[in-house]
This record gives sequence, structure tokens and C-alpha cells, in this order.
Amino acid sequence: MERRVKREIRKQVDLKPGDVIGVAVSGGKDSMVTLHMLDRILNHRDDIEIHCITVDEGINGYRPPSIDIVRDFCRSRDIQLHVVSFEKEFGLTMDQVAPLSVDNTPCTYCGVFRRKCMNDVAEEIGASYLATGHNLDDVAQSIMMNFVRGDVERLARLGPHKKVQPGLVPRIYPLRMIPEKESLLYAMVAGIRYHDGTCPYWEAALRNQYREIIDDLEMRSPGSKFSIVSSYDKILPMLSNYVRPAGLRRCHCGEPTLGSECKACELSEKMRRKIRDP
Ligand code: SF4
Ligand code: ZN
Repeated sequence: MERRVKREIRKQVDLKPGDVIGVAVSGGKDSMVTLHMLDRILNHRDDIEIHCITVDEGINGYRPPSIDIVRDFCRSRDIQLHVVSFEKEFGLTMDQVAPLSVDNTPCTYCGVFRRKCMNDVAEEIGASYLATGHNLDDVAQSIMMNFVRGDVERLARLGPHKKVQPGLVPRIYPLRMIPEKESLLYAMVAGIRYHDGTCPYWEAALRNQYREIIDDLEMRSPGSKFSIVSSYDKILPMLSNYVRPAGLRRCHCGEPTLGSECKACELSEKMRRKIRDP
């Protein structure tokens, strides 16, 4: 597995001296395995820095224990940890947002806010790349979801990102070719502590339907998940020619955006208004 992750990293990026890699870590098994692997694989490279970025969404009883696990891990490996909270960035917590999110699911708000937090910290620390814990199952699900929805633009933008868009730190996915089951097994065998809780706002999202369909496909024809991702990789150069990179502007908060204001500013303002004036 370590060999495959190494190969995947080499395929996705050409690391240079001075590169800083921000690793987005929630404390769950995949992000902990990603941080552990990157630390192990790049340990001998004194010219590359690894920073851990953790987002505190403000979910009582769920997030604090996972942050403790991440903090202990970083301390034991001498990795710099940056914890960024929704409360500090937006003056909101998910415990406030969730009961008020009627037009969208709590996860929609959470995802938009988290992306902005990650991007902000990654820019602040001068990260050349932002690594996330997406595994083969996650990637195959995203490809199929966008394909079935006919969202070719989003399909083309899934990454890993080769072209750098100003203001957006390119994402890399070291576990992209690692099935979820293997990641779990690796965490157990390597003795990596991870948080196994379920968020109280978690909802059976569309993604779960795709998880079931793809798991079923994999059971009937083993290797399907790999095939979905490698077929995507083969057609990606054609897709990239077909879909032009989005012309991004800067929101007043500094975030790149397609419109005049970024989604995080729009949604956080909407929520703050609801809290002020219920
Ligand atoms: Fe946020 Fe939804 Fe994940 Fe909970 S399940 S942490 S609300 S994205
Ligand atoms: Zn903004």
C-alpha cells in the first residue's frame, strides 16, 4: 500500500525543494492514514514541510474528541497543527447552523465553510498543495455522480489538479487508488488512532446511493472501482480541452469566486441574519 501511495504521489505532483504540503485532517481513518503516510514517505526530505490543517465546525460531542486525536498525533510526530474554527472565521458554529438549515442540508453549509477555511489556511502557510484523505471509493463515487448528473464541468474539475488557478491551492489525493477497506486495514495494522464517531447532522445523502451502487458493481465485477477511476483519467485530457478553466474573480474576503461574492460569504451572511432575526 505504501508503494502504491508513493507512486500515486509521484504521478500527481513533482515535489520540489521548499514545497509546503498542507494536509486536511479531520481525525477520521482516511485523513489520519494520509497524514501518517505523507510523514513516513517524505520524512527523509528535509526540504519539504508538512503541516496539518484541522477544521473545528463547532459540533459539540463530535469534533472535540477527534481534534484531541489529531493534536496527539501531530505532537508525537512533530508536525505543525493549524486548527481553524467556523466560530472564528464566520462567527457561527454548526450547532447553530444545523437547526436553521431548512433550504439546504447542514452538510451543504458545512462543506462550503470547510472549503473556505482550508483554502485560507493553506494560503496563509504558503502551501504548494493541499492533500486530502479521499480514497478510491470516494473518487469513484464523485466521478459517477457527476457523470450521471451530466455535470461535465464539475467532472473535469475533480482533480487532482495539474493547472494552478490563482487563489486556489491545488489538491492532491494520495489515497486515490486505495480502496476504503484497505485504508481501514492499514490504520488498524499500523496502530493509527482515529476517530470513529458519526456526526449528528450526517444525512443519507445522494452519495450514499452511489456508494451502494458502486459497491454492488464491485462485488459482481471485482476491479470496477479501479476501472471507473482509470477510465476517468484517460478521458480527463479531452475533458479539460472541452471545459475551459473558470474565470475566477476575488470576493471581498479574498476567496476566488465565479460571481461577485463567494458562496461562503453568501451563506454565512444568510445564517447570521437568521440568527439575529429568527
Ligand atoms: Fe459537516 Fe455534514 Fe460532515 Fe457533519 S456530516 S461534519 S455536518 S459535512
Ligand atoms: Zn467571500
